[in-house]
Amino acid sequence: MPERVRFRCNNCGHRFEIEVLNEDERREARRKNRPTNAVHCPECLRTDIRRGWD
Ligand SMILES: [Zn+2]
Repeated sequence: MPERVRFRCNNCGHRFEIEVLNEDERREARRKNRPTNAVHCPECLRTDIRRGWD
């Protein structure tokens, strides 16, 4: 089951919550040679983000 994680963008400060793959799903994706998701900000599309809303 995907896990919902909160992220905050270091570029524009936008806060968002997305589903990320858990350990098992990441392993499965790698095994099938699928890219594991690169999380990016939905506002500015930068990947310069960090976990948590603190
Ligand atoms: Zn952003």
